[in-house]
Amino acid sequence: MKQDAVPAGATGVITIDLGQLGANWQALAKLVHPAQCGAVVKANAYGLGADRVVPALARAGCRTFFIATATEAHAARRLVPSATLFALDGLLPGAGSDLRRAGAVPVLSSLAEVREWASLVEGQAEKVPTALHVDTGLNRLGMPEHEVEELVRDSRILDRLDVRLVMSHLVSADDPEDPRNERQLAAFERLRGRLPRAPASLAASDGLMLGARYHFDLVRPGYALYGGQAFRGGPTPVGPVVRVSARILQIRDVAPGETVGYSASWRARRASRVAVVAAGYADGLPRSLSAPDGHAGGMIAIRGRPAPIVGRVSMDLITVDVTELGDLALERGELVDLIGPGLTIEAMGSAAGTIGYEVLTRLGPRFPRVYVDEAG
Ligand SMILES: *Cc1c(COP(=O)(O)O)cnc(C)c1O
Repeated sequence: MKQDAVPAGATGVITIDLGQLGANWQALAKLVHPAQCGAVVKANAYGLGADRVVPALARAGCRTFFIATATEAHAARRLVPSATLFALDGLLPGAGSDLRRAGAVPVLSSLAEVREWASLVEGQAEKVPTALHVDTGLNRLGMPEHEVEELVRDSRILDRLDVRLVMSHLVSADDPEDPRNERQLAAFERLRGRLPRAPASLAASDGLMLGARYHFDLVRPGYALYGGQAFRGGPTPVGPVVRVSARILQIRDVAPGETVGYSASWRARRASRVAVVAAGYADGLPRSLSAPDGHAGGMIAIRGRPAPIVGRVSMDLITVDVTELGDLALERGELVDLIGPGLTIEAMGSAAGTIGYEVLTRLGPRFPRVYVDEAG
């Protein structure tokens, strides 16, 4: 990816490859055909910028988008006037007409939500477009079985609903060996069979890798579209979309015995060279990437070669041991990679004791997002 377009004064940059994003959506759409492929673009498209990501996915062919909130629904609606929008957080009390104005269908997770949503068309001939979330074991959102049964018995409410989607969500889809997957699949088959006939959706990024039985009518990947590889059963057929780079501010020599950074947590054992890089936890670099003495922390890459973070990650800065890169003649202002070729989002997540999803969605607002299209 070209990085010469980065403003000279920008301490870092997040480069987002919209061509690869579209190619990822198309690869997943092909994999799940004849099921349809939607796209989850909640949380500002996982932090990458819904205003650019949503139109790029629409150009690739996507017609169904999942957001979480009414605010996100309005933003998406402006970008894709005719797409189907499902709001995963469902219906907050009193928020129904706002969701209707956004042309979004809330994914309803309780009988209370269903009743309130149905009341919007009370006394009218019109039915209200609805998505129903049934719980199959996650015990997060979703109607439990007894609520599904109660709803099925209540024709006054059911008659007002135009059910567009019945969905559930998997507990351990990243692990194809987990027997919960099969149990949830069976529970989903049973519960959707109780409800009015409607398109069904069970799989997100990892679930769609579990095979065609999990695809139903619509899959709803998010993370994989952005290049995420969380499925432990093998690689998802997507490529990296995100590169995060920051500039070297200075390079200093550290004598043996000297310490580097706050709390003097790292001590040089040899004559060392340390690069000070302009990225910190305010930019979304987890502080748990810190590498106090004797402990491995995060890695970055400089011209494709690995270099370890040493000492504490601070708000705006990290310190990196570049002693082994003595042959490179590193330059002040040079961009180095925090996430990029050979440095996956997952690697940063696991080095930080978290997951790639969290790393991705917490990338800070300080680095400009630069959109490229390497494919097109
Ligand atoms: C966030 C979310 C998704 C997308 O999950 P990924 O793992 O990012 O593909 C799908 N379904 C529901 C209910 C979600 O909350």
